[in-house]
Amino acid sequence: MLHQIIRSDIQEMTAYSVADAPSSCIKLDAMEMPYRYPEELKARLGRLLAEAPENLYPNPAASGLQEALRQAFGISDKADIALGNGSDELIQLLTLLVAKPGAKVLALEPSFVMYRHNAKLFGLEYIGVPLNEDFTMNLPAVLSAIETHQPALVFVAYPNNPTGVCFKREEVQALVDAAPGIIVVDEAYGAFSGDSFLPQAGSRSHLVVMRTLSKIGFAGLRIGYAAGHSLVMRELAKIVPPYNMNQLSLAAAKFALQNRAWIDRHIDILKQERSRLSEAFSDLGMKVFSSEANFITVKVNDAVKVFETLRQNNILIKKLHGTHPLLEQCLRITVGTPEQNDAVLNVLKNITTSILKPN
Ligand SMILES: *Cc1c(COP(=O)(O)O)cnc(C)c1O
Repeated sequence: MLHQIIRSDIQEMTAYSVADAPSSCIKLDAMEMPYRYPEELKARLGRLLAEAPENLYPNPAASGLQEALRQAFGISDKADIALGNGSDELIQLLTLLVAKPGAKVLALEPSFVMYRHNAKLFGLEYIGVPLNEDFTMNLPAVLSAIETHQPALVFVAYPNNPTGVCFKREEVQALVDAAPGIIVVDEAYGAFSGDSFLPQAGSRSHLVVMRTLSKIGFAGLRIGYAAGHSLVMRELAKIVPPYNMNQLSLAAAKFALQNRAWIDRHIDILKQERSRLSEAFSDLGMKVFSSEANFITVKVNDAVKVFETLRQNNILIKKLHGTHPLLEQCLRITVGTPEQNDAVLNVLKNITTSILKPN
């Protein structure tokens, strides 16, 4: 009975699986920031949250968080800002915005899985353009696919997940220039890279720049934001659920932005650790893809073996192997604290080179 009522394409989907890791585990699978607030900041945040009006519906538009984001990240007055319950929600709403029969969504492959997922969910055709083998962009192929398919929506992750590679700015600019519909530059890892399209937000009517607080310390708050021209953002605002953000997250996010120095200090540490880990991985024989994110993607000879060995040593990373042909024998490791990274290196040092070094 129910299986006749519920959409068969949804019945065929598998749920996004969140690894349930024991709390003792070194969790390097989901690009979470490994640092927590020190006691003093925790105490101040605690007092602030106690004052947040949990009895009242939130008013995200009047919360002041948009203004705080504008100040903190230099978003132009020309851009409107939308808040999402994680940027995942904004990906969903941006897709819904263009979900007309026959409309297409285009993204690069492999990239963030939610682009395809949401396209399918809203009945849109999904065009995935493969990256080059080194995870750089095949610009002529993307431009030609845009020309052929005239996608209503293009997603580019800049830097890309799950590869960590940042495309060239000129390439992304070329996609912005060529896109006939909305183009979303997803900068979930923007804080860890040297470049951003955020200053351009608001200057082109079809450009939306999306960011999140998740990768810079606050994945638990679920705060994503998108900045773009009012022509798009005004329409988006109509379909954002009125109470999509909650009082506690709004208050905690504003507090986080008032304490920017804490965030920046830890981003710096993680960037240094990214260099150190990349070099060490290379020295161990693994192929390292140059990352501008807070994770490192590597290719080894036996990804399953490396993944399992780390797992046995209480370290959880992401096994990319098996998720896309270009990701054969690939693993993704979130950059952790120096101690966590040392633990990873200690395990890897005891794995023979023939398993680590790709053919
Ligand atoms: C993590 C990630 C997101 C989702 O971030 P949330 O704000 O936590 O929903 C969006 N895009 C990319 C490319 C990501 O890797």
